[in-house]
Amino acid sequence: MTVRCRIAPSPTGPLHIGTARTALYNFLFARHEGGTFVLRLEDTDVARSTVAYERDILEGLHWLGLAWDEGPEVAGQPARGPFAPYRQMERLPLYRDAADQLLSRDLAYPCYCTKAELDADRAAQEANGQPPRYVGRCAHLTAEQRRAREAEGRRPAIRFRIPPGVVGFDDLVRGHVEIDTDALGGDLVIVRSDGTPLYHFTVVVDDAEMAMTHVIRGEDHLSNTPKHILLFRALGADVPAFAHLPLILNPDRTKMSKRKSQTAVADYRAEGVVPEAMVNFLALLGWASGTEDEIFSLDELIERFDLSRVHSGGAVFDRNRLEWLNGQWIRRLSTEDLAERLVPFLAAHLETRRAAGDIPVCEPGADDLRPLIPLVQERLPVLGAIGPLVDFLFVDPLRVDPATLVPKRWDPDTTMAALVAARDVIAGQGRVSFEADELEGPLRDLASARGWKPGDLFMAIRVAITGRTATPPLFDTMVALGRARTLERLEAAAGVLRGSPTGT
Ligand code: GLU
Repeated sequence: MTVRCRIAPSPTGPLHIGTARTALYNFLFARHEGGTFVLRLEDTDVARSTVAYERDILEGLHWLGLAWDEGPEVAGQPARGPFAPYRQMERLPLYRDAADQLLSRDLAYPCYCTKAELDADRAAQEANGQPPRYVGRCAHLTAEQRRAREAEGRRPAIRFRIPPGVVGFDDLVRGHVEIDTDALGGDLVIVRSDGTPLYHFTVVVDDAEMAMTHVIRGEDHLSNTPKHILLFRALGADVPAFAHLPLILNPDRTKMSKRKSQTAVADYRAEGVVPEAMVNFLALLGWASGTEDEIFSLDELIERFDLSRVHSGGAVFDRNRLEWLNGQWIRRLSTEDLAERLVPFLAAHLETRRAAGDIPVCEPGADDLRPLIPLVQERLPVLGAIGPLVDFLFVDPLRVDPATLVPKRWDPDTTMAALVAARDVIAGQGRVSFEADELEGPLRDLASARGWKPGDLFMAIRVAITGRTATPPLFDTMVALGRARTLERLEAAAGVLRGSPTGT
């Protein structure tokens, strides 16, 4: 048997972390087994589906590197695969045929109940403390009764008969599952009275027609599976194997939600999570590698992935772990690659500084960032952290807040004296070579000659030349800034203190 599995997103929202994980597991499973990974767009919720969401989903999957073997036409490319089209709204005749087949075999029937009737049924059930369930009003109408309702102008929905009994299946993650069909809410609407087919129906018709061997999806679909199995059987199709992936949880162990967690993949991308780290993180969100290793590339995951090591307990979304993995992946990038990936993040940050009144000295390019990579590569939890780490190099003049300029244990006069003295020491250093290891000694000597703690002196210098208290290593920072700008900024900062009310 050749594995065929799929991701079937509905374009009713941006690519969600949960959908991305489901896509990844399907992709890994298909690649590991030498099978086929299909993308199908479930866009029958016309009111909520948008082209923008579809684009976000496709771009997100592409960014993660999850290429599909079969899928809809996109970006001017024709649909790929023998079961096109892969958008459900373009497949309506198939659902109509399947519904007719079920009707003709009396496995489904037209239902003429009005919304008012159904609402009243539900209200009565609620009042009696019963779960909602279709009462079966139209389940056994005679041909004449149907004609009478048609004559009243009622347009029927189509309901699938849910037979009594127990549906059992062997879930590849959760083991044997049995559900009594009594719990399914009665006969199921598969086509609305306006002719549009519903999810439970389209998903089965498509999985059957597209010859899916495995349905790997979130645990939130577990209760739908018995309905789907009954529909597969009714359509005379092979029932695929099912694997339900554990829920993704907020840190408080409630189901992951937009309200408590950032759920859109694009938002992580915008912060500067790299796709390698996102893939690595999502893979471990519900799957155990079986080793102590934690860092896995997509290729390594393809080699190792196995549904039997997907666990059934909920998987907590741990943002710190994501950042840690991201830092690990950033460290593994080549200087060139990292420099290029950082350019748009630095540019965006400098735009915000421009908006705040600063003047960027250039449009940064990879050439500007390359020499800084050794200073920042180990300090980036996300690519977006680059801005505050190096922006002092890219604006002139630097505006420094006098309040942060004065170290905690110092007063403005001491700080000013220290900045002037440091400036003189640095000005005395080699004009030809301005090296990090040549700057440290003389500045330490200055501190001990004046009885200052080196840490205080270094902090005053750091803030004077960068405007910030946290930066890459100080002496490397001075070298990156260059002799002339370092001296200028020390003078300017001393000037700021001189002009401040408590300075002399
Ligand atoms: N369109 C469904 C969803 O977005 C697909 C569910 C399934 O994989 O069967 O949840």
